[in-house]
Amino acid sequence: MGGIYSNEPMEVAGAVCSKCGEDLPQIRGWRDIKIKKIYGKWTHEFLGGMYYREKIPTAKHVCKTCFWTPEHILKKREQEAAERARAKAEEDKAETMRLQAKAEAAKAEALKATAELMKAKSLSDINTKENVNESLIRHDKHIIDIE
Ligand SMILES: [Zn+2]
Repeated sequence: MGGIYSNEPMEVAGAVCSKCGEDLPQIRGWRDIKIKKIYGKWTHEFLGGMYYREKIPTAKHVCKTCFWTPEHILKKREQEAAERARAKAEEDKAETMRLQAKAEAAKAEALKATAELMKAKSLSDINTKENVNESLIRHDKHIIDIE
């Protein structure tokens, strides 16, 4: 912990591109960092140009693709990615609504089935009562016959 590695550059643990999120490779130590003046700014160059970080404390890591890609192209890509995400979200919402409608339909179907079942049950109740009445009548007749 601490001491031994405190003088190591933080990139020995690797880094992430602040623009595209790409994982950037770990470096072995200071020997993998060069300081160059690029775009008129002092910049750390890692692993011979795998990625970069401007030489100011608040600067973030940038992969070589993002570093050498003009800002307006990056902006366009960001917008396209945002657009794709929005379209995806719309699609997911539509899908959720479809599923909800399906669930509602299934619920209605189940209610209908329950209603059918209750109707069938009350019909059979009526039938049973009728049977009872019929047998009572027969019984009465039988008694009458004997008399
Ligand atoms: Zn990048």
